Amino acid sequence: MPSLLLSLQLKALLLHTFVLFLSSSFGAHPLPTNQSSSHYANLTTDYGRIIYNYPSEALQPKGPQDISQLLKSISSSPTRNNVTVAPRGAGHSTYGQAQALDGTVMDMRSLTPYIQIGEIQLVASENSTVYVDAGGGVLWIEVLNETLRHGLTPRSWTDYLYLTVGGTLSNAGISGQAYKYGPQIANVMELDVVTGKGDIVTCSEKENSELFYGALGGLGQFGIITRARIVLEPAPQRVKWARIPYDDFNQFAADEEQLIKLGDVNYLEGFISFKDNNSSDVYYTLEFAIYYNNEGDAQKTLDQVLSQSNSSRSMANITDVSYFDFLNRNQKIIEVATAEPTTNKTMAMVDATSRKTKTPMSRPRAEAIGNAESMRMEVRELVGGREGGMGAKQYLPYYKDQNAWKLHFGEKWGRFEELKSRFDPLNILAPGQRIFQRRP
Ligand code: FAD
Repeated sequence: MPSLLLSLQLKALLLHTFVLFLSSSFGAHPLPTNQSSSHYANLTTDYGRIIYNYPSEALQPKGPQDISQLLKSISSSPTRNNVTVAPRGAGHSTYGQAQALDGTVMDMRSLTPYIQIGEIQLVASENSTVYVDAGGGVLWIEVLNETLRHGLTPRSWTDYLYLTVGGTLSNAGISGQAYKYGPQIANVMELDVVTGKGDIVTCSEKENSELFYGALGGLGQFGIITRARIVLEPAPQRVKWARIPYDDFNQFAADEEQLIKLGDVNYLEGFISFKDNNSSDVYYTLEFAIYYNNEGDAQKTLDQVLSQSNSSRSMANITDVSYFDFLNRNQKIIEVATAEPTTNKTMAMVDATSRKTKTPMSRPRAEAIGNAESMRMEVRELVGGREGGMGAKQYLPYYKDQNAWKLHFGEKWGRFEELKSRFDPLNILAPGQRIFQRRP
């Protein structure tokens, strides 16, 4: 499962932490003060508020045809041979990934919202699969609200639901369900994509599969996702949600490994956090959830899990909540953190399935803590660095140039470049990822 190979996810709060220490040293282009329309100004930055790139235009497409028309006209116009196009979902990137300097920002939230539930009979099988077709600009919270009305739910989530379907599917979409079902991109049956050439293509595992697998996790480089068909399952009613703190990394990792092996819990994440803002002491938290319709069965599973844990049962914090409240658990936290950015506490999320994991905690706390770059270094040290330690790749990475991306992709770089030349040969799409330079 791709997400598990990533080994490290920068947790939502960590992403937020980055925004607290704004640095304009990233080649950012400040917002001209004479432009003050709030919507337009919004399109010049993102959740990170670190990078500001002023586009020359903003498009509010209603459907794939509008997107196709724009991309075809840009591709064929000699006077627009330097124009780039950034699809922008909820704008929750942190380093300008959804921005386009002097280009066109495409506001995907303006697409006619589309959420439709359906069912198909699988070939050579008695069983059918239930799915939801969701527009690329729809928020995951909207998908949840609609599917729950039918007693159904997607299987794999992000920790925070106010992100768009197209935005998370362009990355991976990871939360604690991924250890069982893979990230969100592993739970998609079909996509509609508008390629960089302006072609509107339906793709799936069987049909136009290169574009399908390219667009999923493709950082917006090969096409703009306008519809995704996502697998559903029956929704549970309630959730037993547990958090267990640890001081000892080995005990924490052993428990997480054991839970992964048993596969009894529906959601599982591990966190590393600083004990307070000014200390280098860390602690670990195992968070897991058991979904249920029958309380007795859920309690039995919970008792079993706790009885096998290395941590004392009395330390466990257990809450019983509705399924909706569990999935939407971070809304308030993120809203408060966004409104009052006062903490600089770093938190990293660890996938303890890596057998190479060693206690990664002997690291000095960066002196210049009020600086986004040092925070990035700090997290890298925390997990032992990309080159060593856990062998982790950064999720949602920010790199300044193509050479760094080549290192990131390693042996897969050639394939990535090849797909780019097929589906977006002029390098028009998603310039904010800083992977390819626009070709005239
Ligand atoms: P945007 O930031 O608008 O765009 C992201 C990239 O995708 C850009 O390059 C953009 O050009 C491209 N893009 C946008 N829409 C499309 C489309 N329809 N087709 C093709 N390309 C497109 N990630 C997780 O995996 N799990 C989490 O739990 C999680 N929690 C988060 C919590 C917070 C508070 C924040 C700020 C981020 C979190 N993220 C998480 C990261 C988030 O998933 C990514 O930043 C994602 O890209 C945000 O979606 P968006 O709709 O805001 O995309």
